[in-house]
Amino acid sequence: MHEIGIANSIIEAGQTEAARVAGSKLVRVGIRIGALAGVDCDALRFALTALTQGTELDDVDFEIQSCPRRNRCLDCDEVFVTALYSDPCSRCGSETSVLVGGEELDLAYVEVEEP
Ligand SMILES: [Zn+2]
Repeated sequence: MHEIGIANSIIEAGQTEAARVAGSKLVRVGIRIGALAGVDCDALRFALTALTQGTELDDVDFEIQSCPRRNRCLDCDEVFVTALYSDPCSRCGSETSVLVGGEELDLAYVEVEEP
């Protein structure tokens, strides 16, 4: 379950951010996960809870935002959400489009409470 490794990286990144101001406390961490990132959001949520339970990070709020797959139409430039590789453009119906989003695995924001 590689979600444990990802959860560890997220926690580390949050702690690094909190460590920039002495005595500050990590409050909230936002993560953006693309539908194609190969990450199971439930497993990640579980890993984050398991890793922080009983630690000083117990009450940190981890917000996981899942981002759908997005394609850009090569004919009309429309960016649209699609579940399948071959879905036609939602605006002009063209079937030639390229993947432009859905693979993200990003730290969206880190909220820190200063002393
Ligand atoms: Zn189009």
